[in-house]
Amino acid sequence: MSYSIPRGTYDILPKDSYRWQALKAKFTELAKAFGYEEITTPIFEVSDLFERSSGESSDVVQKEMYRFTDKKGRSFALRPEGTAPVVRAYVEHNMASSGNNKLWYWGPMFRYDRPQAGRYRQFYQYGLEFIGSDNPYWDAELISFLWLFLSGLGLKHLRLELNSVGCPNCSQDYDNALRAYFQPHLESLCPDCQKRYETKPRRLLDCKVTTCKQIAGSAPSQLDYLDEPCRDHFAAAKSYLDKLSIPYTINPKIVRGLDYYTNTAFEIVYEGIGAQNSLAGGGRYNGLIEQIGGKPTPAIGFAGGIERLLIALENEGISLGESPGTDLYLIPMGEQARDFILPWINRWRMEGITIGFDPDKSSFKSQLKAANNSQARFAAIIGEDELAQESVMLKDMQSGEQSLIKLSELVSTLKTKLNH
Ligand SMILES: [Zn+2]
Ligand SMILES: [Zn+2]
Repeated sequence: MSYSIPRGTYDILPKDSYRWQALKAKFTELAKAFGYEEITTPIFEVSDLFERSSGESSDVVQKEMYRFTDKKGRSFALRPEGTAPVVRAYVEHNMASSGNNKLWYWGPMFRYDRPQAGRYRQFYQYGLEFIGSDNPYWDAELISFLWLFLSGLGLKHLRLELNSVGCPNCSQDYDNALRAYFQPHLESLCPDCQKRYETKPRRLLDCKVTTCKQIAGSAPSQLDYLDEPCRDHFAAAKSYLDKLSIPYTINPKIVRGLDYYTNTAFEIVYEGIGAQNSLAGGGRYNGLIEQIGGKPTPAIGFAGGIERLLIALENEGISLGESPGTDLYLIPMGEQARDFILPWINRWRMEGITIGFDPDKSSFKSQLKAANNSQARFAAIIGEDELAQESVMLKDMQSGEQSLIKLSELVSTLKTKLNH
């Protein structure tokens, strides 16, 4: 009997884990600098949370959600996205009163989708949510975080695309304009688009079917249908981005896949990894919190996919987080030396020294080979002479230089040499 991993999932092996750790460390550090705090929610929630928040016309909820029933017959779903759970937690813990309204998360999400390059059924997302203000400054600040995070990793072929999807007030006019535009083409549209024509005509703008794409090419732009408050909000968000020196282009075709978005919508596009070129996206969701039972509260957020980001980094030859390697490999010569050194090993490790030691290898030759294989910076050879002097022969594995060091001084010597 042998097992293999479920389709659409993957293992993060040790050699890749270093990249993940480095990426998360960079994200965490920048989030801290922006005053964002981490929030972790469960990977499953009652399915109604996603049904209510993401809306009936959403593919994510309709086709791609992993639903399951527990032993008491309650319906749960593996989270397909991170925003609804964060907002659920925000409302449930009354976080408005504690002032924790700048939140970040990082973790696995689940969608039953057709697996392809960079797209998985268990995939990982990082995201930010800013809750509690409609001030367009926050739109610009949150977008600038995303831009600085991605460009700060060294990625070059990035483009920030910006749009406003309006509010419930102005989106009706726009929906009518879209219906009027698509009406004569109705028969040429794909079945999905024909279905959405009445309920969600703006979803016709991001259909991937070629004919639909061509027809949508000259559809009217949402930006021409914004009411005055939405126009002002968008203008102010853009002007803050200018002041923060964040470059952007306007793309009126950006419609977010989920129903709860209002006003500012944005995407960071990476030019260089084929069709799947959106690295991250988000927008304002002023209606969501009320929709799931909280007080009406404006908010904005984004989410980015880690798999595609790693592909983009690889594509540009940007390496993050190599294996740290071994600082010191211990080579005791004989049983007495080994017993002598044992009490020290964990003490040194607790001091932050990465120690290689393998009692399965006994000859000098095999231990030295192991030291080389682990790419140790130093080896500590303990023979009879060293034992007598409570010392080790410290060998620099790069230069070959050797020096006798007292056990009690080993850590401080190493730290100086390793620049710890
Ligand atoms: Zn509006
Ligand atoms: Zn279509």
